[in-house]
Amino acid sequence: MSKHVFSRSPGHRLPLVVRGTGAELFDEDGRCYLDGSGGAVVNSIGHGVTEVVDAIAAQAAAVAYVHGTAFGSEALDAYADELAPLLPVDDPRIYPVSGGSEAVETAIKLARAYHLGRGQNRSVIIGRQGSYHGNTRGALDVSGRAGLRAPYLPWLGHAFHTTTPYEYRCPFPDVHPGGCAVRHAEHLDRVITQIGPDQVAAFIAEPVSGAALGACVPPAEYWPAIAEVCRAHGVLVIADEVMTGFGRTGRWFACEHWGLRPDILVAAKGAASGYWPLGLTVCSGEVYDTVAASVFTHGFTYSHHPVGAAAGRAVLGVLRDLVPTVADRGRDLGLALHRELSAHWAVGDIRGIGLLRAVELVRDRDTRQPFPRRDRIAEQIIAAAKAKGLLLYHATGNTNGHDGDLLLFGPPLVVTPEQVRDMSHRCATAIHDVL
Ligand code: PLP
Repeated sequence: MSKHVFSRSPGHRLPLVVRGTGAELFDEDGRCYLDGSGGAVVNSIGHGVTEVVDAIAAQAAAVAYVHGTAFGSEALDAYADELAPLLPVDDPRIYPVSGGSEAVETAIKLARAYHLGRGQNRSVIIGRQGSYHGNTRGALDVSGRAGLRAPYLPWLGHAFHTTTPYEYRCPFPDVHPGGCAVRHAEHLDRVITQIGPDQVAAFIAEPVSGAALGACVPPAEYWPAIAEVCRAHGVLVIADEVMTGFGRTGRWFACEHWGLRPDILVAAKGAASGYWPLGLTVCSGEVYDTVAASVFTHGFTYSHHPVGAAAGRAVLGVLRDLVPTVADRGRDLGLALHRELSAHWAVGDIRGIGLLRAVELVRDRDTRQPFPRRDRIAEQIIAAAKAKGLLLYHATGNTNGHDGDLLLFGPPLVVTPEQVRDMSHRCATAIHDVL
């Protein structure tokens, strides 16, 4: 890699990737890697899908860029009309941006603008402990991940954080599992009441925690109870589906597992599957009408990009055949991970839904005590897996404020049953190499 590239892994020599197909990537030396995580759970349709490339090229050739305040585009109209019926949002309005953090920034500003439009000066956003919503300042502020926040704390502190459903380390062990959803809802209610409901604009959370806590599926009663608390206080619900959206969990959007209808939904990653940097903020018609009737001071140079819309629409076409297969393939992955890993002394938990799965590593299975962070166990295993031709993603977990060791699986949805077994086996051998 050229020394002029500000590397995301300083001090490491990264291989140069040259080609990808399906769930496989190839580097400059012809080495093949099984893409167990689609990068950062980005690639859903697989690598090398030429119909998406052709759609991008055709739109760029017709017109590559216009400013979103000057022109609409046929590409964006067609994409929005096809996507709208799939969204779990009432009368959805779609604001396309360039990625997840931008989508979150747009969502929290939209929540503020909505309340201002109704004559209410609400500004507080409540997030969840251990959560991750992006690395820009607003998105980081609503995120609860201590390690990422630490260097930037002087700029943060406007958001509040409530409890998060992390079944392996439930914050309410005395009532776990039957009563913890109610406790989470009571806790959120208390936080809102303490701040003052007339100050709280929105609650933001992932329907299933992804990168931060590693594929944590909440108890069945969690989302209905949380939504009820928010509605009772006039607090908007923002569902962060950046990682879970576009089929990752076996439904088009993870909200659907619990009948959740958020006021605002954000998505990215799978939306264009890495073929274009695309994020989406979606709000209900009611939020849109309120904001449109007042002022929404916001915008990015690359929002409403016609090429992004063409990419998103082509990806949507591919996903229509894939999404119905995710539940079965996810079950295959879950079973294979249990078969290969559950006997290992350091494997504390194997969890997830659809093709979003995580393995939590612990020093002691009985006490669930994590490894000391300085041992960097997950990083070592991910490096060992890469040497065996398997790519995994590192989620950090969060144990009483300390980051933990989680291996995250989120392969392209085209992954075959055989590849799923192969990934699980290579992961097991990598764990054995390190521990
Ligand atoms: N929200 C969630 C749940 C994410 O997982 C991520 C990225 O991993 C983001 C937001 C930020 O997205 P981006 O990295 O595209 O800015």
